[in-house]
Amino acid sequence: MADIAVLRERMVATARSGTKLTYTDLYAGDRWAARGHASQDCGLISMDEHRAGRPLLSAVVVSKETGMASRGLYNLARQHDEGVLTGDNACPCGKPMLLPSEDEPAFRERQLRLVHAAWALASGPIGNPYVPAPAAPMPHRSAALVTNLDALDRATEAHRQILESLASFLRSKDLTPLEPRPDGPQFDLAWETAEATFVAEVKSLPADGERQQLRLGLGQVLDYQDALERMGKSTQAVLAVEREPRDLAWLGLCARHGVSLVWPGRFEILPRMPAPASGSSGSR
Ligand SMILES: [Zn+2]
Repeated sequence: MADIAVLRERMVATARSGTKLTYTDLYAGDRWAARGHASQDCGLISMDEHRAGRPLLSAVVVSKETGMASRGLYNLARQHDEGVLTGDNACPCGKPMLLPSEDEPAFRERQLRLVHAAWALASGPIGNPYVPAPAAPMPHRSAALVTNLDALDRATEAHRQILESLASFLRSKDLTPLEPRPDGPQFDLAWETAEATFVAEVKSLPADGERQQLRLGLGQVLDYQDALERMGKSTQAVLAVEREPRDLAWLGLCARHGVSLVWPGRFEILPRMPAPASGSSGSR
């Protein structure tokens, strides 16, 4: 009997390459195993993926004769939406897998596109080497209400300086600062160590808008972290601000959400790796 983890790895490799594989190839040529177990194995793997927030991976597995996934995937989704799946396939999420009035071919095609897109994004680096922008003349924003606070902040000189300062710090530690891919989460800066991926949101802290900026930055970095986690990256969130906040409650608030709050002069506290799973667990 084939190991589920091995079958999953074959599906993942196929998904990353943007292709499909036949049921027989999934079982390394063993047609009898394919006939006997494919439906159940594919269901288990796809439901695990679904519970992890990813599309139904077994959509890449197709019949050699028809070139299409079996109806099993569609039936699985229907049963999921009816809430009748039990045991290892049960899922309490309550979110429908099928779109309203979506038929079997449309569902199958959509899942395949989602799987290819999800795994294409998860393969390769999460970003491109960071290139510093030229000095920006724009001063701090005014307190006026604006529609895109983040875009406005990114255009400020303070933002550019924090970004550059963090990038220099990373280079001094032999780490490569990354800027986002156009098709990925739009963080300010990221870097990867052997143990984890770090994602940073950078925020200037004008005297009249400190809390607004911290709220915005914390929400953004948690959003980026979530997106990278769903791409299979174990991610540490970092909020890099212009200076120490006046309200030190932000240190505790960020820490409780696993976010490292830093500013120039305090980058040294950034963890080189996630806390080891040793006796002193509970702190991050
Ligand atoms: Zn579900």
